[in-house]
Amino acid sequence: MTTNGTTTMNPPSEAVREHTGDSLFQRVQSTMERAAEVTGLSPAVRKILARPACEVSVTFPVRMDDGRVEMYTGYRVQHNNALGPFKGGIRYHPGVSIDEVRALAAWMTVKCALVDIPFGGAKGGVQFDPSNLSVPEIERLTRRFVYALGNNIGPDYDVPAPDVGTDARTMAWIVDTYAATLPPQDRHRALAVVTGKPVSAGGSVGREKATGQGVVDLIGLWARDEGLNLTDLTYTVQGFGKVGSWAARILKSLGATLLAVEDATGAVRAAGGLDADALAEHVRRTGGVAGFAGAQAIGHSEFFGIAADVFIPAALEDQVTAETASLLNVRLVAEGANGPTSPEGDAVLRERGIEVLPDILCNAGGVIVSYFEWVQNRGGAAWDAAEIDRRLHGILAKAYQRVKAVGQSKGVDWRTAAYAVALSRLEQVYVERGIFP
Ligand code: NAD
Repeated sequence: MTTNGTTTMNPPSEAVREHTGDSLFQRVQSTMERAAEVTGLSPAVRKILARPACEVSVTFPVRMDDGRVEMYTGYRVQHNNALGPFKGGIRYHPGVSIDEVRALAAWMTVKCALVDIPFGGAKGGVQFDPSNLSVPEIERLTRRFVYALGNNIGPDYDVPAPDVGTDARTMAWIVDTYAATLPPQDRHRALAVVTGKPVSAGGSVGREKATGQGVVDLIGLWARDEGLNLTDLTYTVQGFGKVGSWAARILKSLGATLLAVEDATGAVRAAGGLDADALAEHVRRTGGVAGFAGAQAIGHSEFFGIAADVFIPAALEDQVTAETASLLNVRLVAEGANGPTSPEGDAVLRERGIEVLPDILCNAGGVIVSYFEWVQNRGGAAWDAAEIDRRLHGILAKAYQRVKAVGQSKGVDWRTAAYAVALSRLEQVYVERGIFP
């Protein structure tokens, strides 16, 4: 199907999936299958969730600063909308592929179901390195991508948000471009087409820090159950972007000690601890953690081997592999990133008795506060920071208790238990609504 220069592709066929072998999307399927066995999920719901509902691929031209025209390909995968409008971030990264976006979209479906907010799952991305383009080039690329997506996104249909390589400014460009495609009398509706906007442009207070705040809330719940005090807690962080830096800054405010950080530019440690606020300012100025004054540069293996209570992966997928999992010297892996642990890494962590707060629970703070932003936009409301934090913590604490209870009653790990809770929620809606016709 082609509309607005948009190609809507068929969901991946069995044949395609066979060829992709151990693809990221297949991995999500395997985790779902494991949890489906635990809950006795119906075969119909298993089949529905095994394929994305819709996949959009667009190719569009962008004029570069020197006058050249370059072609870019962008994706939007809409995995499932049984619980509400499709919801999920947009990623700008050289590693973006249709398989990765497909997996990220499926994770959004289970994440929203797990924390019980009325959204489905989607994800988008464009394969390019934002550090190689000027800001005006990224703006033109964003606007052209949104124009190419056309009515495949919308406040009641599919609501994007920031992810790796995109931020509040990107979301403001999306609102402005989307609004320009609507008739004048409908443009006020455009605000709710994305979440994660700047507060001055219709965003919600607390959204920027929300994912990091959620990671910290979950670590706090786990620490309380373990009898650990956050003021005595030591931790390391991989990825010092929106998620990692906010988690670190909030943990600092609670008295915990940041021992080391790794990002795309390298890894640093400091015996007495790193100042997360000063490091965030250094990253803002220089683009990465390398060269942070007073810190010692270390290698990848040394970073993974540092003894701490908690490791927070907050960069990309597949960082905790069998190799790096065997180096880890921590009690808990709190997954800020989506899919940071490979199945082999997971197995090593299980063998070694290292607990994992899984991504779909641990980083759900972002989509929960996105939901609050969407509700505020549609209702013309403005909640204050305390209200946002209170509601966020309430939802996360409920999800944490539900997952913990299922884990204990079924004798399964946190990840399987979290998927089991999510799948049961999705099954409930299919049972109640039935399958058309
Ligand atoms: P970001 O672009 O703000 O930051 C990404 C960080 O990862 C940067 O510090 C970058 O240097 C680092 N990084 C990239 N490649 C690396 C590598 N090879 N080794 C080490 N570090 C590397 O992105 P973000 O929004 O903070 O997202 C990080 C993760 O959290 C992603 O998995 C994303 O899907 C997930 N997530 C984000 C949100 C959100 O609200 N932004 C919500 C839920 C989940």
